[in-house]
Amino acid sequence: MARSRAICTIHRPGWSNRGETLEAGQETGLKLEKVPHAGAVFGEDAQRGLGGLGGSDEGPLTEVHVFWLAGMSCDGCSIAVTGATAPSVEDLLAGTIPGLPKVVLHHPVLSIAAGAEFVRPLRDAAEGKLDAPYVVVLEGSVPDDQSLPEDEGYYSAMGAGGFDPPSEGDQPNRVTGWLKRLCPGAAASVAIGTCATWGGIPAAAGNITGSMSLMDFLGKDYTSALGVPVVNVPGCSPIGDNFTEVVAAVLMFLQGTGPLPEFDELGRPAWQFGETVHRHCPRAGYYEEGTFAKQEGDPECLVDVGCWGPVVQCNITERGAINHMGGCMVAGGACIGCTMPGFPDKFSPFYKRAPGSLMSGGTSRVYGSAIKRLRRVTMRNRNREPIWERSGEVPSPYATERAGPSLTARMEGFFYSKLQYRGTVNLAKRNKKQPNPRSMDIYRYAGPDATPDESVPASIDRYAPPDAQGEDAAKQVDAHEEEGKG
Ligand code: SF4
Repeated sequence: MARSRAICTIHRPGWSNRGETLEAGQETGLKLEKVPHAGAVFGEDAQRGLGGLGGSDEGPLTEVHVFWLAGMSCDGCSIAVTGATAPSVEDLLAGTIPGLPKVVLHHPVLSIAAGAEFVRPLRDAAEGKLDAPYVVVLEGSVPDDQSLPEDEGYYSAMGAGGFDPPSEGDQPNRVTGWLKRLCPGAAASVAIGTCATWGGIPAAAGNITGSMSLMDFLGKDYTSALGVPVVNVPGCSPIGDNFTEVVAAVLMFLQGTGPLPEFDELGRPAWQFGETVHRHCPRAGYYEEGTFAKQEGDPECLVDVGCWGPVVQCNITERGAINHMGGCMVAGGACIGCTMPGFPDKFSPFYKRAPGSLMSGGTSRVYGSAIKRLRRVTMRNRNREPIWERSGEVPSPYATERAGPSLTARMEGFFYSKLQYRGTVNLAKRNKKQPNPRSMDIYRYAGPDATPDESVPASIDRYAPPDAQGEDAAKQVDAHEEEGKG
Protein backbone atom coordinates (compact mmCIF):
# COMPACT_ATOMS: atom_id res chain seq x y z
CA MET A 1 0.00 0.00 0.00
CA ALA A 2 1.44 3.35 -1.06
CA ARG A 3 -0.20 5.47 1.59
CA SER A 4 2.91 7.19 2.74
CA ARG A 5 3.53 8.41 -0.84
CA ALA A 6 0.16 10.12 -1.09
CA ILE A 7 1.65 13.55 -0.47
CA CYS A 8 1.40 15.78 -3.49
CA THR A 9 3.61 18.71 -4.31
CA ILE A 10 2.86 21.37 -6.87
CA HIS A 11 5.82 22.67 -8.83
CA ARG A 12 4.64 25.90 -10.33
CA PRO A 13 6.35 27.70 -13.17
CA GLY A 14 6.66 31.45 -13.26
CA TRP A 15 3.29 32.90 -12.42
CA SER A 16 1.89 36.17 -11.24
CA ASN A 17 0.85 35.36 -7.69
CA ARG A 18 -1.34 38.17 -6.37
CA GLY A 19 1.31 40.76 -6.86
CA GLU A 20 4.23 38.44 -6.32
CA THR A 21 5.96 37.46 -9.55
CA LEU A 22 7.70 34.13 -9.40
CA GLU A 23 10.74 33.43 -11.50
CA ALA A 24 10.51 30.68 -14.09
CA GLY A 25 11.44 27.38 -12.45
CA GLN A 26 11.13 28.81 -8.96
CA GLU A 27 9.15 26.64 -6.59
CA THR A 28 6.77 28.11 -4.11
CA GLY A 29 7.32 25.35 -1.59
CA LEU A 30 3.54 24.94 -1.44
CA LYS A 31 2.53 21.43 -0.60
CA LEU A 32 -0.85 19.86 -0.79
CA GLU A 33 -1.91 18.48 2.51
CA LYS A 34 -1.29 14.91 3.37
CA VAL A 35 -4.68 13.40 4.00
CA PRO A 36 -4.30 11.21 7.07
CA HIS A 37 -7.06 8.80 6.24
CA ALA A 38 -5.76 8.02 2.75
CA GLY A 39 -6.64 4.46 1.95
CA ALA A 40 -8.47 3.95 5.23
CA VAL A 41 -11.68 3.01 3.54
CA PHE A 42 -10.03 -0.09 2.10
CA GLY A 43 -8.43 -1.31 5.29
CA GLU A 44 -4.66 -1.51 5.34
CA ASP A 45 -4.57 -5.16 6.31
CA ALA A 46 -7.36 -6.34 4.10
CA GLN A 47 -6.77 -9.78 2.66
CA ARG A 48 -8.46 -9.47 -0.70
CA GLY A 49 -7.47 -7.67 -3.83
CA LEU A 50 -5.59 -4.43 -3.75
CA GLY A 51 -6.08 -2.87 -0.37
CA GLY A 52 -9.14 -5.01 0.10
CA LEU A 53 -11.08 -3.46 -2.77
CA GLY A 54 -11.42 -6.87 -4.36
CA GLY A 55 -14.12 -7.64 -1.87
CA SER A 56 -14.62 -8.49 1.73
CA ASP A 57 -15.18 -11.74 3.56
CA GLU A 58 -18.84 -11.29 2.81
CA GLY A 59 -18.20 -11.37 -0.93
CA PRO A 60 -17.36 -9.02 -3.80
CA LEU A 61 -18.15 -5.34 -3.75
CA THR A 62 -21.69 -4.41 -4.54
CA GLU A 63 -21.29 -0.63 -4.77
CA VAL A 64 -18.63 1.88 -5.72
CA HIS A 65 -19.20 5.61 -5.35
CA VAL A 66 -18.12 7.94 -8.13
CA PHE A 67 -17.59 11.60 -7.25
CA TRP A 68 -17.77 13.67 -10.43
CA LEU A 69 -16.10 17.06 -9.94
CA ALA A 70 -16.11 19.87 -12.45
CA GLY A 71 -13.27 22.39 -12.71
CA MET A 72 -12.83 24.82 -15.59
CA SER A 73 -15.22 22.98 -17.84
CA CYS A 74 -17.92 23.48 -20.44
CA ASP A 75 -19.81 20.32 -19.33
CA GLY A 76 -19.12 18.76 -22.75
CA CYS A 77 -17.61 15.71 -21.06
CA SER A 78 -20.82 15.13 -19.09
CA ILE A 79 -22.85 15.39 -22.27
CA ALA A 80 -20.52 13.01 -24.10
CA VAL A 81 -20.64 10.43 -21.33
CA THR A 82 -24.43 10.46 -21.12
CA GLY A 83 -24.39 9.43 -24.80
CA ALA A 84 -22.21 6.38 -24.16
CA THR A 85 -23.67 3.06 -25.22
CA ALA A 86 -21.03 0.41 -24.57
CA PRO A 87 -21.54 0.33 -21.68
CA SER A 88 -24.06 3.05 -21.04
CA VAL A 89 -24.17 5.15 -17.89
CA GLU A 90 -27.57 3.60 -17.19
CA ASP A 91 -26.01 0.10 -17.23
CA LEU A 92 -23.35 1.19 -14.74
CA LEU A 93 -25.85 2.91 -12.47
CA ALA A 94 -28.32 0.05 -12.53
CA GLY A 95 -25.59 -2.50 -11.84
CA THR A 96 -26.83 -4.68 -14.70
CA ILE A 97 -23.36 -5.63 -15.99
CA PRO A 98 -22.48 -9.06 -14.64
CA GLY A 99 -19.46 -8.99 -12.34
CA LEU A 100 -19.48 -5.23 -11.87
CA PRO A 101 -20.48 -3.43 -8.70
CA LYS A 102 -23.25 -0.87 -8.96
CA VAL A 103 -22.01 2.67 -9.48
CA VAL A 104 -23.41 5.32 -7.16
CA LEU A 105 -22.86 8.53 -9.10
CA HIS A 106 -22.58 11.92 -7.38
CA HIS A 107 -22.77 14.39 -10.27
CA PRO A 108 -23.48 18.12 -9.91
CA VAL A 109 -25.94 18.08 -12.81
CA LEU A 110 -27.31 14.55 -12.91
CA SER A 111 -27.80 13.83 -9.22
CA ILE A 112 -31.25 14.24 -7.77
CA ALA A 113 -29.85 15.37 -4.42
CA ALA A 114 -29.07 19.08 -4.07
CA GLY A 115 -27.47 21.41 -1.56
CA ALA A 116 -26.26 19.95 1.73
CA GLU A 117 -27.73 16.55 0.84
CA PHE A 118 -25.59 16.42 -2.30
CA VAL A 119 -22.42 17.52 -0.54
CA ARG A 120 -22.75 15.17 2.44
CA PRO A 121 -21.29 12.02 0.82
CA LEU A 122 -18.36 14.07 -0.47
CA ARG A 123 -17.67 15.32 3.02
CA ASP A 124 -18.01 11.80 4.39
CA ALA A 125 -15.47 10.55 1.86
CA ALA A 126 -13.12 13.43 2.65
CA GLU A 127 -13.40 12.55 6.33
CA GLY A 128 -12.87 8.83 5.71
CA LYS A 129 -16.40 8.06 6.88
CA LEU A 130 -17.96 6.92 3.64
CA ASP A 131 -17.41 3.28 4.49
CA ALA A 132 -17.28 2.35 0.80
CA PRO A 133 -14.68 2.66 -1.94
CA TYR A 134 -14.90 5.61 -4.28
CA VAL A 135 -13.48 6.91 -7.53
CA VAL A 136 -12.86 10.60 -8.24
CA VAL A 137 -13.64 11.84 -11.76
CA LEU A 138 -12.59 15.33 -12.77
CA GLU A 139 -14.05 17.15 -15.75
CA GLY A 140 -12.42 20.47 -16.67
CA SER A 141 -9.01 21.81 -15.77
CA VAL A 142 -7.79 22.82 -12.33
CA PRO A 143 -7.39 26.59 -11.82
CA ASP A 144 -4.48 27.88 -9.81
CA ASP A 145 -6.34 29.34 -6.88
CA GLN A 146 -3.86 28.08 -4.30
CA SER A 147 -2.57 31.59 -3.77
CA LEU A 148 -6.02 33.08 -2.98
CA PRO A 149 -6.90 33.23 0.72
CA GLU A 150 -9.42 30.49 1.61
CA ASP A 151 -12.32 32.87 2.01
CA GLU A 152 -11.45 35.20 -0.83
CA GLY A 153 -12.62 34.18 -4.22
CA TYR A 154 -12.36 31.08 -6.31
CA TYR A 155 -12.32 30.06 -9.97
CA SER A 156 -14.49 26.98 -9.76
CA ALA A 157 -16.34 25.56 -6.81
CA MET A 158 -18.89 22.97 -5.82
CA GLY A 159 -21.10 23.09 -2.77
CA ALA A 160 -20.60 25.48 0.13
CA GLY A 161 -20.03 25.51 3.84
CA GLY A 162 -16.43 24.46 4.04
CA PHE A 163 -15.08 20.94 4.36
CA ASP A 164 -15.82 20.51 8.00
CA PRO A 165 -19.16 18.64 8.30
CA PRO A 166 -20.60 20.70 11.17
CA SER A 167 -19.72 24.05 9.57
CA GLU A 168 -22.60 26.17 8.33
CA GLY A 169 -20.84 28.84 6.29
CA ASP A 170 -21.88 29.82 2.78
CA GLN A 171 -18.43 30.19 1.29
CA PRO A 172 -18.27 28.08 -1.90
CA ASN A 173 -15.98 25.07 -1.65
CA ARG A 174 -13.21 25.25 -4.22
CA VAL A 175 -12.80 22.29 -6.52
CA THR A 176 -9.12 22.35 -5.64
CA GLY A 177 -10.13 21.85 -2.01
CA TRP A 178 -12.20 18.78 -2.90
CA LEU A 179 -9.38 17.35 -5.01
CA LYS A 180 -6.84 17.77 -2.23
CA ARG A 181 -9.12 15.98 0.20
CA LEU A 182 -10.61 13.28 -2.03
CA CYS A 183 -7.89 12.16 -4.45
CA PRO A 184 -5.49 10.53 -1.96
CA GLY A 185 -8.21 8.29 -0.53
CA ALA A 186 -9.76 7.37 -3.89
CA ALA A 187 -9.46 3.91 -5.42
CA ALA A 188 -8.60 5.77 -8.62
CA SER A 189 -8.62 9.35 -9.87
CA VAL A 190 -9.79 9.66 -13.45
CA ALA A 191 -9.36 12.80 -15.55
CA ILE A 192 -11.94 12.98 -18.30
CA GLY A 193 -11.60 15.30 -21.30
CA THR A 194 -8.62 17.29 -22.48
CA CYS A 195 -9.05 20.10 -19.93
CA ALA A 196 -8.70 17.65 -17.03
CA THR A 197 -6.08 15.45 -18.69
CA TRP A 198 -3.75 18.09 -20.15
CA GLY A 199 -5.13 21.54 -19.26
CA GLY A 200 -6.89 22.04 -22.60
CA ILE A 201 -8.50 25.29 -23.66
CA PRO A 202 -8.62 26.93 -20.17
CA ALA A 203 -4.82 26.44 -20.03
CA ALA A 204 -4.19 27.91 -23.50
CA ALA A 205 -1.85 30.83 -24.05
CA GLY A 206 -3.28 34.02 -22.60
CA ASN A 207 -5.47 32.43 -19.93
CA ILE A 208 -5.68 34.30 -16.64
CA THR A 209 -6.46 31.39 -14.33
CA GLY A 210 -3.21 29.43 -14.38
CA SER A 211 -5.27 26.38 -15.32
CA MET A 212 -3.59 23.01 -15.43
CA SER A 213 -4.37 19.33 -15.71
CA LEU A 214 -5.20 17.03 -12.81
CA MET A 215 -1.75 15.42 -13.19
CA ASP A 216 -0.06 18.81 -13.03
CA PHE A 217 -2.08 19.74 -9.97
CA LEU A 218 -1.49 16.54 -8.01
CA GLY A 219 2.15 16.20 -9.02
CA LYS A 220 4.24 13.26 -10.04
CA ASP A 221 4.25 11.75 -6.55
CA TYR A 222 0.52 11.21 -6.60
CA THR A 223 -0.95 7.76 -6.62
CA SER A 224 -4.38 6.77 -5.45
CA ALA A 225 -4.96 4.81 -2.28
CA LEU A 226 -4.47 1.69 -4.38
CA GLY A 227 -1.26 2.97 -5.91
CA VAL A 228 -2.79 3.95 -9.26
CA PRO A 229 -1.53 7.16 -10.91
CA VAL A 230 -4.05 9.47 -12.57
CA VAL A 231 -5.97 7.75 -15.37
CA ASN A 232 -6.38 10.05 -18.37
CA VAL A 233 -9.18 9.78 -20.93
CA PRO A 234 -8.62 12.81 -23.20
CA GLY A 235 -10.74 14.35 -25.95
CA CYS A 236 -12.59 17.61 -26.43
CA SER A 237 -15.18 16.36 -25.99
CA PRO A 238 -14.05 12.82 -25.23
CA ILE A 239 -15.78 9.78 -26.67
CA GLY A 240 -18.30 8.75 -24.03
CA ASP A 241 -17.70 5.05 -24.67
CA ASN A 242 -13.96 5.48 -24.05
CA PHE A 243 -14.73 6.68 -20.55
CA THR A 244 -17.43 4.16 -19.58
CA GLU A 245 -15.30 1.36 -21.01
CA VAL A 246 -12.35 2.41 -18.83
CA VAL A 247 -14.58 2.66 -15.76
CA ALA A 248 -15.95 -0.83 -16.46
CA ALA A 249 -12.45 -2.24 -17.08
CA VAL A 250 -11.06 -0.74 -13.86
CA LEU A 251 -14.05 -1.99 -11.85
CA MET A 252 -13.67 -5.48 -13.31
CA PHE A 253 -10.03 -5.53 -12.37
CA LEU A 254 -10.78 -4.34 -8.88
CA GLN A 255 -13.44 -7.03 -8.53
CA GLY A 256 -10.95 -9.65 -9.67
CA THR A 257 -13.01 -10.51 -12.76
CA GLY A 258 -10.79 -8.85 -15.39
CA PRO A 259 -7.12 -8.25 -16.20
CA LEU A 260 -5.25 -5.10 -15.23
CA PRO A 261 -6.10 -2.53 -17.96
CA GLU A 262 -3.04 -1.33 -19.84
CA PHE A 263 -2.19 2.35 -19.64
CA ASP A 264 0.50 4.17 -21.59
CA GLU A 265 3.24 6.40 -20.15
CA LEU A 266 0.78 9.30 -19.86
CA GLY A 267 -1.93 7.27 -18.17
CA ARG A 268 -4.06 6.90 -21.29
CA PRO A 269 -5.84 3.59 -21.88
CA ALA A 270 -3.30 2.05 -24.26
CA TRP A 271 -5.85 0.12 -26.30
CA GLN A 272 -7.76 3.32 -27.05
CA PHE A 273 -4.94 5.78 -27.74
CA GLY A 274 -2.15 3.60 -29.15
CA GLU A 275 -2.96 4.33 -32.80
CA THR A 276 -3.13 7.54 -34.80
CA VAL A 277 -6.52 8.67 -35.96
CA HIS A 278 -5.18 8.69 -39.53
CA ARG A 279 -4.59 4.94 -39.61
CA HIS A 280 -8.27 4.17 -39.32
CA CYS A 281 -9.64 7.23 -41.09
CA PRO A 282 -12.21 6.56 -43.81
CA ARG A 283 -10.33 9.12 -45.94
CA ALA A 284 -6.90 7.49 -45.55
CA GLY A 285 -7.21 5.84 -48.97
CA TYR A 286 -7.41 9.30 -50.56
CA TYR A 287 -4.24 10.32 -48.74
CA GLU A 288 -2.43 7.27 -50.03
CA GLU A 289 -3.49 8.11 -53.60
CA GLY A 290 -2.48 11.73 -53.18
CA THR A 291 -6.00 13.12 -53.56
CA PHE A 292 -6.79 16.00 -51.23
CA ALA A 293 -9.82 18.14 -50.40
CA LYS A 294 -9.54 21.76 -51.54
CA GLN A 295 -12.16 22.99 -49.11
CA GLU A 296 -14.35 21.76 -46.26
CA GLY A 297 -17.16 19.62 -47.59
CA ASP A 298 -15.02 17.88 -50.20
CA PRO A 299 -14.99 14.10 -49.74
CA GLU A 300 -11.22 13.58 -49.99
CA CYS A 301 -8.44 13.65 -47.39
CA LEU A 302 -8.53 16.86 -45.34
CA VAL A 303 -4.81 17.34 -44.79
CA ASP A 304 -4.66 20.45 -46.99
CA VAL A 305 -7.41 22.08 -44.93
CA GLY A 306 -5.56 21.55 -41.67
CA CYS A 307 -5.97 17.90 -40.64
CA TRP A 308 -3.37 16.74 -38.09
CA GLY A 309 -4.68 13.15 -38.08
CA PRO A 310 -1.38 11.46 -39.06
CA VAL A 311 0.24 12.52 -35.74
CA VAL A 312 -2.73 12.47 -33.40
CA GLN A 313 -3.44 9.56 -31.04
CA CYS A 314 -7.18 9.04 -31.01
CA ASN A 315 -9.73 6.34 -31.84
CA ILE A 316 -12.65 8.48 -33.06
CA THR A 317 -12.42 7.03 -36.56
CA GLU A 318 -12.83 3.50 -35.23
CA ARG A 319 -15.32 4.17 -32.53
CA GLY A 320 -17.39 7.08 -33.82
CA ALA A 321 -18.77 9.82 -31.59
CA ILE A 322 -21.92 8.12 -30.32
CA ASN A 323 -23.07 4.54 -30.86
CA HIS A 324 -20.37 3.99 -33.49
CA MET A 325 -21.68 6.83 -35.65
CA GLY A 326 -20.26 10.22 -36.58
CA GLY A 327 -16.90 11.55 -35.47
CA CYS A 328 -14.66 14.27 -36.86
CA MET A 329 -13.42 13.07 -40.24
CA VAL A 330 -16.54 10.99 -40.85
CA ALA A 331 -18.59 14.16 -40.48
CA GLY A 332 -16.20 16.21 -42.64
CA GLY A 333 -14.11 17.90 -39.94
CA ALA A 334 -10.32 18.06 -40.03
CA CYS A 335 -8.53 16.70 -36.94
CA ILE A 336 -7.28 19.58 -34.75
CA GLY A 337 -5.50 17.33 -32.26
CA CYS A 338 -7.94 17.72 -29.38
CA THR A 339 -6.82 14.53 -27.60
CA MET A 340 -3.16 15.55 -27.45
CA PRO A 341 -1.29 17.19 -24.56
CA GLY A 342 -0.15 19.95 -26.94
CA PHE A 343 -3.74 20.98 -27.71
CA PRO A 344 -4.73 23.71 -28.44
CA ASP A 345 -1.58 25.85 -28.69
CA LYS A 346 0.60 23.37 -30.56
CA PHE A 347 -2.13 22.70 -33.12
CA SER A 348 -3.12 26.27 -33.85
CA PRO A 349 -3.94 28.12 -35.96
CA PHE A 350 -6.66 25.62 -36.72
CA TYR A 351 -7.51 24.74 -40.32
CA LYS A 352 -4.11 25.77 -41.59
CA ARG A 353 -2.08 23.06 -43.28
CA ALA A 354 0.44 21.46 -40.88
CA PRO A 355 4.03 22.10 -42.04
CA GLY A 356 4.92 18.39 -41.84
CA SER A 357 2.23 17.51 -44.36
CA LEU A 358 4.15 19.38 -47.08
CA MET A 359 6.64 16.52 -47.17
CA SER A 360 4.38 13.53 -46.57
CA GLY A 361 1.45 14.92 -48.57
CA GLY A 362 3.80 16.02 -51.36
CA THR A 363 5.31 12.55 -51.58
CA SER A 364 1.95 10.84 -51.72
CA ARG A 365 0.89 13.31 -54.42
CA VAL A 366 3.73 12.10 -56.62
CA TYR A 367 3.63 8.34 -56.13
CA GLY A 368 -0.10 8.27 -55.28
CA SER A 369 -1.16 9.81 -58.56
CA ALA A 370 0.81 7.17 -60.52
CA ILE A 371 -0.57 4.34 -58.37
CA LYS A 372 -4.07 5.73 -58.74
CA ARG A 373 -3.85 5.63 -62.56
CA LEU A 374 -2.65 2.04 -62.58
CA ARG A 375 -5.41 1.05 -60.20
CA ARG A 376 -8.03 2.61 -62.47
CA VAL A 377 -6.85 0.41 -65.33
CA THR A 378 -7.15 -2.72 -63.20
CA MET A 379 -10.45 -1.52 -61.82
CA ARG A 380 -11.88 -1.09 -65.33
CA ASN A 381 -10.88 -4.65 -66.15
CA ARG A 382 -12.33 -6.06 -62.94
CA ASN A 383 -15.57 -4.24 -63.63
CA ARG A 384 -16.36 -6.62 -66.49
CA GLU A 385 -17.81 -10.13 -66.31
CA PRO A 386 -15.63 -12.75 -68.05
CA ILE A 387 -18.53 -13.36 -70.45
CA TRP A 388 -18.49 -9.74 -71.58
CA GLU A 389 -14.80 -9.99 -72.34
CA ARG A 390 -15.38 -12.88 -74.61
CA SER A 391 -18.58 -11.77 -76.27
CA GLY A 392 -17.18 -8.28 -76.74
CA GLU A 393 -20.22 -6.44 -75.41
CA VAL A 394 -21.76 -5.28 -72.18
CA PRO A 395 -25.50 -5.95 -72.23
CA SER A 396 -26.54 -2.71 -70.56
CA PRO A 397 -27.70 0.60 -71.96
CA TYR A 398 -25.54 2.22 -69.22
CA ALA A 399 -22.36 0.72 -70.61
CA THR A 400 -20.01 3.13 -72.25
CA GLU A 401 -17.78 0.39 -73.58
CA ARG A 402 -20.19 -1.02 -76.12
CA ALA A 403 -17.54 -2.24 -78.50
CA GLY A 404 -15.53 -4.33 -76.05
CA PRO A 405 -12.31 -3.58 -74.20
CA SER A 406 -9.62 -1.51 -75.84
CA LEU A 407 -6.31 -3.00 -76.95
CA THR A 408 -4.56 -1.46 -73.92
CA ALA A 409 -7.13 -2.89 -71.55
CA ARG A 410 -6.82 -6.32 -73.14
CA MET A 411 -3.05 -6.20 -72.84
CA GLU A 412 -3.24 -5.11 -69.23
CA GLY A 413 -5.71 -7.91 -68.53
CA PHE A 414 -3.44 -10.43 -70.18
CA PHE A 415 -0.29 -9.52 -68.26
CA TYR A 416 -2.12 -8.94 -64.99
CA SER A 417 -3.76 -12.38 -65.23
CA LYS A 418 -0.37 -13.94 -65.91
CA LEU A 419 0.96 -12.54 -62.65
CA GLN A 420 -2.23 -13.16 -60.73
CA TYR A 421 -2.52 -16.86 -61.61
CA ARG A 422 1.17 -17.65 -61.57
CA GLY A 423 1.69 -21.00 -59.84
CA THR A 424 -2.02 -21.74 -59.67
CA VAL A 425 -4.87 -22.67 -62.01
CA ASN A 426 -5.32 -19.93 -64.58
CA LEU A 427 -9.03 -19.25 -64.40
CA ALA A 428 -8.91 -16.72 -67.21
CA LYS A 429 -7.47 -19.37 -69.54
CA ARG A 430 -9.89 -21.95 -68.27
CA ASN A 431 -12.77 -19.61 -68.91
CA LYS A 432 -11.75 -19.24 -72.52
CA LYS A 433 -12.00 -22.98 -73.03
CA GLN A 434 -15.57 -23.08 -71.78
CA PRO A 435 -18.52 -22.76 -74.15
CA ASN A 436 -19.55 -19.12 -74.25
CA PRO A 437 -23.04 -18.35 -72.93
CA ARG A 438 -24.21 -15.31 -74.82
CA SER A 439 -26.68 -12.66 -73.86
CA MET A 440 -30.10 -13.96 -74.80
CA ASP A 441 -31.30 -10.49 -75.68
CA ILE A 442 -34.78 -11.57 -74.69
CA TYR A 443 -36.40 -8.22 -75.37
CA ARG A 444 -34.84 -7.90 -78.81
CA TYR A 445 -35.77 -11.36 -79.97
CA ALA A 446 -39.11 -12.11 -78.36
CA GLY A 447 -40.43 -9.02 -76.56
CA PRO A 448 -41.81 -8.79 -73.03
CA ASP A 449 -44.94 -10.85 -73.76
CA ALA A 450 -43.20 -13.90 -75.14
CA THR A 451 -44.01 -17.27 -73.59
CA PRO A 452 -41.11 -19.20 -72.08
CA ASP A 453 -41.08 -21.57 -75.05
CA GLU A 454 -40.62 -18.89 -77.64
CA SER A 455 -38.42 -16.54 -75.58
CA VAL A 456 -35.13 -17.90 -76.95
CA PRO A 457 -35.11 -18.07 -80.72
CA ALA A 458 -33.67 -21.18 -82.30
CA SER A 459 -31.35 -19.00 -84.34
CA ILE A 460 -29.05 -17.95 -81.48
CA ASP A 461 -26.30 -20.17 -80.11
CA ARG A 462 -27.35 -21.85 -76.93
CA TYR A 463 -24.98 -22.51 -74.08
CA ALA A 464 -23.84 -26.13 -74.14
CA PRO A 465 -22.36 -27.09 -70.78
CA PRO A 466 -19.24 -29.24 -70.81
CA ASP A 467 -19.88 -32.92 -70.28
CA ALA A 468 -18.91 -33.45 -66.67
CA GLN A 469 -18.56 -37.22 -67.07
CA GLY A 470 -17.33 -37.57 -70.61
CA GLU A 471 -14.50 -36.66 -72.88
CA ASP A 472 -14.75 -32.90 -72.32
CA ALA A 473 -14.25 -33.35 -68.60
CA ALA A 474 -11.14 -35.47 -69.09
CA LYS A 475 -9.71 -32.84 -71.42
CA GLN A 476 -10.36 -30.11 -68.91
CA VAL A 477 -8.69 -32.02 -66.10
CA ASP A 478 -5.63 -32.47 -68.33
CA ALA A 479 -5.69 -28.79 -69.21
CA HIS A 480 -5.86 -27.77 -65.52
CA GLU A 481 -2.98 -29.98 -64.66
CA GLU A 482 -0.93 -28.43 -67.43
CA GLU A 483 -1.83 -24.94 -66.26
CA GLY A 484 -1.02 -25.82 -62.66
CA LYS A 485 2.46 -26.88 -63.73
CA GLY A 486 2.82 -23.68 -65.67
FE1 SF4 B 1 -5.51 11.33 -42.31
FE2 SF4 B 1 -6.89 13.54 -41.73
FE3 SF4 B 1 -6.67 12.75 -44.25
FE4 SF4 B 1 -8.15 11.34 -42.49
S1 SF4 B 1 -8.57 13.40 -43.25
S2 SF4 B 1 -6.74 10.57 -44.05
S3 SF4 B 1 -6.93 11.61 -40.62
S4 SF4 B 1 -4.98 13.40 -42.91
